[in-house]
Amino acid sequence: MAPIGAQFKPGDAVPHSGIYRVTHDPIHAQEHEVTCLFGKHFPPCRGCGEPRFVLVRAARYVETQDHFKCA
Ligand SMILES: [Zn+2]
Repeated sequence: MAPIGAQFKPGDAVPHSGIYRVTHDPIHAQEHEVTCLFGKHFPPCRGCGEPRFVLVRAARYVETQDHFKCA
């Protein structure tokens, strides 16, 4: 389990599905939060070269949780 606050960059594998806080070059975008899914990679930004993704809260994607009947 990656710790809360662990930091990632574009191209890194997403270690856990959940909410990540994204920091951009402040000239082009304010900090914001996104949901990222395990098994994907953190994407590059269209507007800056150095976004950073910080794990805020891990949460399983509903379709990977065994309790639910998902197609
Ligand atoms: Zn950016």
